[in-house]
Amino acid sequence: MTKLCFIDTETTGLDRRRRRIWDFACIVREEGQADVEHQFFIEVSLRNADPFGLNIGHFWERYPGWQVAGHDTSLTTGATWVGAVPSFDEESCEALLHRAGRFPRWDYHLVDVETAAAALAGISPPWKNDVVNLAYNIQVAPEDRHTALGDARACRDLYDAVFKP
Ligand SMILES: [Mg+2]
Repeated sequence: MTKLCFIDTETTGLDRRRRRIWDFACIVREEGQADVEHQFFIEVSLRNADPFGLNIGHFWERYPGWQVAGHDTSLTTGATWVGAVPSFDEESCEALLHRAGRFPRWDYHLVDVETAAAALAGISPPWKNDVVNLAYNIQVAPEDRHTALGDARACRDLYDAVFKP
């Protein structure tokens, strides 16, 4: 039985050594069951934050300033990770877990749905996420863009467009 996790994160910047996740979303799909959405804000230090990175995800408008997420790995255990440039999110999640003395337990094959979708639509790199989504008629509301859950939903919709028969 395949377990899929459509994951997106918003972080404090782009530098892999310094960025921290503050907004995490994971949509879990297990065979025969409805998709289940999870979204957490994670307590974060802004000491090394990049103001540009914070603005992309609308940190100042959306961050509630309190901690909700722990370091529970059960959501992604044994799952195939699906995302748009999933290596970015995976690196950040892996670092988050390692700082907490935990280890990732997802399948190491990451599915970059954006690359698969671009290839199938004949779009050559470099591409913009919007252009790839548009090729599959996937619309993301402006208020959902660059939110972890909004982006995770877009990944899920793109995956369904590409991989469903
Ligand atoms: Mg995002």
